[in-house]
Amino acid sequence: MIHEILPVCTLRCNCSIIGDETTQEAMVIDPGDDIEEVQELIAQHNLQVKQIVITHAHIDHVGGAMKLRAATGAPILLNQNDYALLKMLDEQAAWLGMRSPGKVEIDRSVTTGETVSAGSHAAQILHTPGHTEGSICLYFAPEKKLLAGDTLFAGSIGRTDLPGGNMKKILSSLHETVMALPDETVVVPGHGELTTIGEERETNPFLVKR
Ligand SMILES: [Zn+2]
Repeated sequence: MIHEILPVCTLRCNCSIIGDETTQEAMVIDPGDDIEEVQELIAQHNLQVKQIVITHAHIDHVGGAMKLRAATGAPILLNQNDYALLKMLDEQAAWLGMRSPGKVEIDRSVTTGETVSAGSHAAQILHTPGHTEGSICLYFAPEKKLLAGDTLFAGSIGRTDLPGGNMKKILSSLHETVMALPDETVVVPGHGELTTIGEERETNPFLVKR
């Protein structure tokens, strides 16, 4: 499995490129910005992007999606519970003092029970509301890898004080869905360092059992 992680946008969102070295098919997760650099990596590995998956509709995760779609022809996937938040990109840009990327069009909604693939590498979609209503994680079971968006971070969890955020929901998503994964699962959060489910189970102040 080819897996490149590239921090994009001023907020350093972890954009992932997942590729199959045999079929050269790829998916890009959270292309928030810096699409030229994303495309350079795609070209370096000689990959063909088949889908663009957005973990949630915050500007730093979705801002570059239209540019990448125009360059690759790949559809953009987002859970439908974040469509309302996606309509607020101008407001999000204003809060952060950033330039709005303009309108982002979603080609298809994805939710729990569905999979998204790059060649032979398939990820289960896990709908994990809380950071936003439509937040999803991508779980690659054979590779034991979780792309967690802004639901789980090394030592922390996603903020819930923005529109659509809900502390009760993020805790239930974490306890019932995310922490049900095996300890050895490598977690690629939406920002910052990689971690594992086992490490977070033992040390994350939001998750340790008291
Ligand atoms: Zn976010």
